[in-house]
Amino acid sequence: MAEKQNIKITEIPDRRTAGIRDRRTDERLRRENTEFPGSGKANGSQRRTASREPANGAEPWMRRETTEVPDWDDAEYEDDLRRKRREKARYEQRRREYIKQKRRKRRLRRVFRGALLLTAAIAVLAAAGFLVSRSIRPSQAKIDSAEIQARIPDWITQDFLTPNPYSRPQTALEQVNGVVVHYVGNPGTSASANRNYFNSLAETKTTSASSHFVIGLDGEIIQCIPLNEISYCSNHRNKDTVAIECCHPDADGQFTQETYDSLVRLVRWLCDEFKLDSSEAVIRHYDVTGKECPRYYVRNPEAWEQFLKDVKNAE
Ligand SMILES: [Zn+2]
Repeated sequence: MAEKQNIKITEIPDRRTAGIRDRRTDERLRRENTEFPGSGKANGSQRRTASREPANGAEPWMRRETTEVPDWDDAEYEDDLRRKRREKARYEQRRREYIKQKRRKRRLRRVFRGALLLTAAIAVLAAAGFLVSRSIRPSQAKIDSAEIQARIPDWITQDFLTPNPYSRPQTALEQVNGVVVHYVGNPGTSASANRNYFNSLAETKTTSASSHFVIGLDGEIIQCIPLNEISYCSNHRNKDTVAIECCHPDADGQFTQETYDSLVRLVRWLCDEFKLDSSEAVIRHYDVTGKECPRYYVRNPEAWEQFLKDVKNAE
């Protein structure tokens, strides 16, 4: 076989012949035999002789060469085709991998976005739940003090202090969780005298003091500060309580019956308006700081207990 090819190379010095396959060589030799009928039967040596010494000159070589070219082209073409198919298959494989990867990434992104949305939704729901639970808890209910102020009954005289840093700073009273009872500590003075004293602090600047209400010896009630502003009366509880100062005829601090009755009525009204449990929310100044105020009801705790009962029974 190798010998046969060597011969071909010598005869047709064209590098293209080197790749000719055995099948095609046979096919060409068969054709040679047809072209040179006198060259004998189809066996290897005879064909080689015929090829080397054609009977009628160079023409058949030329023809033979032209007929062989398509054979070679076919082979090359098929190889090329197979190579291209392999390349295409590899390309397709890479393309599928890429698409698969892209889909995986898209799915991951979708999952991540979903988780993010879910977290946000949970956060919003939690915040809403917290706000709702806050609003329905009565102790922390946001009471509109200005609205209550607008409903002040006519048995209360409104005589507000002039706004000033010493007795009426006009700081908002955001919530009311209690009512604090005091005594003025200045026997025999009237409600209006005590009210005017608070008002004078704007000028004298001697101290900071005031009260939402002052109840006089005859049971008259003067309001000095609106219910939606704080007063300076109960120390750290100024920020969430309403303060009531009570006048008293003597140094022992016991209230007159009129003062007492007005106090019960006023405290009852405030507890109703601010939705307070009187047995817990109504306290003495003493309960805030330990100060002996209101003196009589610190020295006589049973009198204070009775007062709380009276407020409760006034419901
Ligand atoms: Zn007090």
